[in-house]
Amino acid sequence: MKNPDVIVIGAAVVGCSLAFHLARDGAKAAVLDKGRICSGMSARSGALVRMHYTFAPEAELAWKSFTYFTHWPEIVGPPGCGFVRTGFAIVVASENVDRLRTNVAMLQRIGIDTRTIDPKQLWEIEPEANVEDVAMAAYEPQSGYADPVATTQSLANAAQRAGAEFVLDTPVAAI
Ligand SMILES: Cc1cc2nc3c(=O)[nH]c(=O)nc-3n(C[C@H](O)[C@H](O)[C@H](O)COP(=O)(O)OP(=O)(O)OC[C@H]3O[C@@H](n4cnc5c(N)ncnc54)[C@H](O)[C@@H]3O)c2cc1C
Repeated sequence: MKNPDVIVIGAAVVGCSLAFHLARDGAKAAVLDKGRICSGMSARSGALVRMHYTFAPEAELAWKSFTYFTHWPEIVGPPGCGFVRTGFAIVVASENVDRLRTNVAMLQRIGIDTRTIDPKQLWEIEPEANVEDVAMAAYEPQSGYADPVATTQSLANAAQRAGAEFVLDTPVAAI
């Protein structure tokens, strides 16, 4: 590509998402990576798709991104992200109950579908969970996991369909 409008460094989940959005909005985007698509930390992700963060801007971003996971075929297209809804719970012992309540209230103000539940409610949701030393849990019924490599590859494919160019095995030495 000659004279790209934007050069994206890194063809992992963030770079491929950036390239997809830029190209979709009409920019000439070139993506450079020193390795292959998804050869960085993205391939090592634990794959959780959840909104429980303690930093409000991060939680807001996760909530906005969540629509992508639930509507992937319409927004991004093939081959898909492998999202599976399982529900997500984070548990705390008694000394952290107040902090968890405060955090869940912050997440609810953003609009995130989350609530606190007691150990009995958690056990009813997941009977195999050992809830003996659990004082409280935050529960997100809509959350789950996705396939990090498929997610990245799908964004890369969508970026390419929209006109972005990938230049791989090309380390960037300076900016
Ligand atoms: C063990 C683990 C578990 C995780 N679990 C989760 C989870 O459950 N849920 C979640 O949402 N997040 C999780 N994360 C975080 C998530 O994986 C990262 O936030 C995300 O992958 C970062 O993506 P990225 O595109 O910014 O960077 P990376 O995936 O690290 O990609 C950076 C890219 O830049 C390229 N690059 C670097 N330097 C150069 C250069 N000089 N020239 C050219 N290319 C270069 C690399 O080759 C690489 O492809 C986890 C991370 C780890 C490590």
